[in-house]
Amino acid sequence: VGSIRIQEVEKKFVNGSGENVQALFDVSLDIKPGSFVSVIGPSGCGKSTLLRLISGLSQPDKGHIFLDNMQITAPGADRGFMFQEHNLFPWLTIYDNIAFGLRARKLYKENKEKVTGILHLVGLDGFESYYPHQLSGGMCQRASLARALVGNPKVLLLDEPLGALDAFTRMNIQDEIQRIWKEEHMTMVMVTHDVDEAVYLSDTIVVMTARPGRIVKLVHVDLPRP
Ligand code: ADP
Ligand code: ADP
Repeated sequence: VGSIRIQEVEKKFVNGSGENVQALFDVSLDIKPGSFVSVIGPSGCGKSTLLRLISGLSQPDKGHIFLDNMQITAPGADRGFMFQEHNLFPWLTIYDNIAFGLRARKLYKENKEKVTGILHLVGLDGFESYYPHQLSGGMCQRASLARALVGNPKVLLLDEPLGALDAFTRMNIQDEIQRIWKEEHMTMVMVTHDVDEAVYLSDTIVVMTARPGRIVKLVHVDLPRP
């Protein structure tokens, strides 16, 4: 489970001056279940737009996106999303932020063991009662990762998840993400500016160009698998 098929997708926006911006043009891509795909390319080439379409947060103007042969038309519990800026609620503790993710997905009743288990998975044992402002940027990203994972998604979508962190913290959380990928066997799709990160983490690298939304090359990187 967790295969993604992107078929001839187009997406336009109208910018502030009323001009059309073709963010994606004729993009097709097949993502194998359980693979770790990194999407790289210059700023503005449509990487985030592609990820948002897979998430269901926005819809293509043309074309189709399928997850396990079901067309994606809206956000769903089968996809977790992690952004560069953590989107934790400042007025909720780390525990309640994760529990909120669980409730919002309507998949499980709030379950203390589930929440503490997922906090353990991301290395946040003992931080249940802290508020986001009491934690470092890296720890907030760990909590965001926990919230993205708590509904047991088939696909994890990561938009520059570690881009705002210092190099040391970034490497630590990269290893955490890699371990979770190996243990949980989910499909990962990550947008990153960091080519080292893409090569280190992924088994497939998708390169997009600024010529609107064209994926020019699929580069397969062989990584030792567990
Ligand atoms: P990337 O993630 O590769 O930097 P984006 O997907 O964010 O690129 O954006 C692709 C293009 O679409 C850019 O020109 C961007 O300004 C434009 N764009 C993205 N989202 C919107 C939006 N909501 N409204 C207007 N233009 C947008
Ligand atoms: P990223 O840094 O991940 O590439 P951006 O900062 O470009 O993403 O975009 C963040 C959000 O702003 C997205 O929801 C995107 O759709 C929106 N956005 C991007 N470019 C524009 C734009 N020119 N006008 C309006 N919204 C935009």
